[in-house]
Amino acid sequence: MEHTIIPRLRLAGVLAVCALALAGCGGGRGGRSNARYYEAAVVAQRDLSPQHFQALKVELPKRLGKQPIVVEDAAGRQSPTTAEKLSAAAQQALYIVLETGSKASQEWDLRVRLADNRRVPVTVRRAPGGGFVVRQGDVGEKLARGQGKDLPQRYGIGNLVEQGAEWTPRAREVLDIALDALDDRERKVLAAIPFIRRVRGDDASHGALYKQTDCKAEIFLFDTALRSDSDQFVGEPEAPVATSVRTLLHEVGHAIHQRPGRLAWCAVERKERALRERVEALNKRGQAFNRGQGRLSAKDRERELGAIKAEQKALETEKSAFEQQVKEARKAVDRGPVLEAYGKVLGKASPPTAYAETSAKESFAESYSLFRADPAALKRLLPQVHDFFARGGHLGP
Ligand SMILES: [Zn+2]
Repeated sequence: MEHTIIPRLRLAGVLAVCALALAGCGGGRGGRSNARYYEAAVVAQRDLSPQHFQALKVELPKRLGKQPIVVEDAAGRQSPTTAEKLSAAAQQALYIVLETGSKASQEWDLRVRLADNRRVPVTVRRAPGGGFVVRQGDVGEKLARGQGKDLPQRYGIGNLVEQGAEWTPRAREVLDIALDALDDRERKVLAAIPFIRRVRGDDASHGALYKQTDCKAEIFLFDTALRSDSDQFVGEPEAPVATSVRTLLHEVGHAIHQRPGRLAWCAVERKERALRERVEALNKRGQAFNRGQGRLSAKDRERELGAIKAEQKALETEKSAFEQQVKEARKAVDRGPVLEAYGKVLGKASPPTAYAETSAKESFAESYSLFRADPAALKRLLPQVHDFFARGGHLGP
C-alpha cells in the first residue's frame, strides 16, 4: 500500500504545498476516466502546531472556493454548513483531502491528529452534486477492541506463527476483529490456515500477504499494516475500526477466491500420491515376476503377465486423466469460478480502490475487504458488488 506524507500548513507560502509533489497531488491517479475509489492510501500526518489550525481557518475556505460542504450526523441526516463553521478536526480532514486526494477518490476515513495529539475519526465523502460530506466521530474516540485470545480454537484457523515478529496483544486483537466479521462459511475457508507474523514482506509496502503453494495456504501480517492504524480507520467514524483489520480481510478475500483452485490442487496432490503408490506396487510386482517366473507354470506365468500388462494400461489411462486434472486445477488457480462470477457482477465499473486496478484478484480482495469492514462504503461505490457478497455469491452454490 502506498504512503503519502502530508506537510504542515503554514500561512506563508501555503499555496506552494502542492508543488512539493505529493503522490496523488493534483489527482488523476486512476487510469480510467470513470474511476471512483475508496481512498486506501495512508496519509501519515506529522505533529501539528496550534498555528497550523489557526492558518486552516483562513486558508481552507479559500481552497474550497465555492464547493459546498454538508455535515452528516450518525443517523445520516445532512445539513449544509461552511468551512468556517467546521470543527478543527473536520477542517484538517478536508485539508488532507484537498492536498492528497485524487479526483477519483470518493471517500476517506481519517484519524485526524489534533494539536494536542488526540485523534478524531472523520469521514469525508465527495457529494454527488459536487463539494463534500463530512461526518465526524468523537474527539479521542478509540479504535474498536477485540479479545485476541484463543484465536485458533475460537475460529478454527491454523496456528499463530512468529517468524521474527511477535503476535502482540494488539496484533491478535486486530486479527480477532477481522475473524469476528466473517460468517461461518467464510471462516471454514480459513480452516487450518496459519497466520504468520513477520516484520516485513518482500515488498516493504505490503501490509499483509496471502501465499498459496499448491495445496498449502498461509497468511502473513507485517508491521506496516499495524503502523497505518494511527492515521486511518475503516467503517463509521462513530465506531472506528483499525484499518489493519481491512488489510487482513483483504487477505481473507484472496483465500476465498482461491479456494476452488486450492481444493483442486489438494485433489491433485492426493491423486498424485495414489498414482505413485500404484506405480511403485506395479514395479515391485514386475521385479518379482522377473525373479520368479522360472518357478511358475506356463499358465500362471501367462496369467501374471496379463495382469501386469492390464495394470500398466490402466495406469496409462489414469495418467492422462491426471494430466487433464492438473490442467484444470491450474486454470482454477489462475482465475476460477469465484473471480469469474465477481468479474461478471463488476462489469466495466471502476473497482473500489486504486490498488484494485492491479488485477482481478486484487479487485476482488479489495471489494471483499470493504464488504466486511465498511459495507456502507462498498454499497455507495458498487451496490451490485455489495449485493453479490450479501447473497453469498463469493461462496458458490
Ligand atoms: Zn492482495
